[in-house]
Amino acid sequence: MDTIIKNASIVKPELLTVDIGIEYGRIAAIGNNLPHNAELEIEAAGRIAFPGFIDSHVHFQDKKVFKDTDFRTESEQAILGGITTVVEMPTDSQVAKPTKIRDKIDAIEGNGTYVDFGLHAGNMNLRALDWMPDAVRIGLTSFKGFTCEPYMMRGPAIDMFMAKAKELDALVMFHCESQNLLSGSSVAKAEDYPASRPRAAEVMAVTQVLGSASRSQAEVHIVHVSTAAAADNVAEHRNWLQNLSAEVCLHHLILDESHIKEQGARLKLNPPLRKKEDVDALWYHLKNRNLDFVASDHFYVPHTRKKGKFSDIPPGVPGVDASALLVYTHGVEKREMTLARYQEVMSESQSKRFGMWPGKGSLEVGSDADIVLFDPKPESRFHTRRDWSPYEAMDVKGEITDVFLRGEHAVAEGEITGNPTGKYLFRSTPYNNTPG
Ligand SMILES: [Zn+2]
Repeated sequence: MDTIIKNASIVKPELLTVDIGIEYGRIAAIGNNLPHNAELEIEAAGRIAFPGFIDSHVHFQDKKVFKDTDFRTESEQAILGGITTVVEMPTDSQVAKPTKIRDKIDAIEGNGTYVDFGLHAGNMNLRALDWMPDAVRIGLTSFKGFTCEPYMMRGPAIDMFMAKAKELDALVMFHCESQNLLSGSSVAKAEDYPASRPRAAEVMAVTQVLGSASRSQAEVHIVHVSTAAAADNVAEHRNWLQNLSAEVCLHHLILDESHIKEQGARLKLNPPLRKKEDVDALWYHLKNRNLDFVASDHFYVPHTRKKGKFSDIPPGVPGVDASALLVYTHGVEKREMTLARYQEVMSESQSKRFGMWPGKGSLEVGSDADIVLFDPKPESRFHTRRDWSPYEAMDVKGEITDVFLRGEHAVAEGEITGNPTGKYLFRSTPYNNTPG
């Protein structure tokens, strides 16, 4: 063995104390009394070993938007937060043409990444449908469209998009806000922003996308569900639509409109923050499997760019460094989410839905040795290593002490140990994890 993690607790779904043996970057053995002849032995008594966390919705790299940061800087924040795999979403530029996808992979690997990564294609339009077969051939199997500007697709285009995805067994993802109900661009004050992108806009767009999903039978995923009504709608449709999944983002689980009063314009987000009742409903649906998992929708720009004229402020907040701790604190500690469900929403379900199972998101022999050692005891306040975070100084329970990426001890005692060794992940088509 290269490494043995001794006396770790794993979630099966009860906590079970085991040793985990790692060889050639994979989990080679799990059990008690493994032969202790490894180069590296780590005593993990009292700590939980989770499969490396996955964040399937992050914005890391786009020269048009991110001038001071790139995949390397953002992936460093990710691995310190226990995330070992991300799937990156295009931001302002379209990434759908296979040459552009290859260029992006080369640029990221050339500059280094601390986590393994897949890419989503976006922002789709009719022309980009022709490129989908080639994208699937290079391991990119998920494609994002919008029901609103700046990349709005209309009904017939959405149907054609889904028909193409069905043909390829690929996954369609949608940002759901109905354009004709949005008036966000005229808003001057942070407090007025949520009302300019009303909840009805999300509900209408979700209904439209679910209609196309039911006609096409394509695999469809709704990104960042933010309202109680839209989550209820998704939950209802799951009774007959087997091809559906939906995500909730960290900020919609932790923040609500009242935080805008404290933090102001930097909490500009699409869809915007909602009411406390929405937050409660999102947690309910996440625990009850109507929402499949949590992503951060990480979008970091320095604080200087999150103030000034409101209409010029780019929408989005960072979160990839905070999500594992905050979902544990608010989900497991405060809302009685089970550890098994936590492990699913932070890792396993994302791996399955985005075609990475069982290499990622699994603590089984043969899976990649992506492992997070988590100490559930410490109580502290979240502290970002950046100049700002919407979660700064919030109470957190637990601590991520060690992170392994394909067997490499990437984070030890909370600090990065070496150089970036992340790789591009060739993803297969989505596993349908709709609960029965
Ligand atoms: Zn996003």
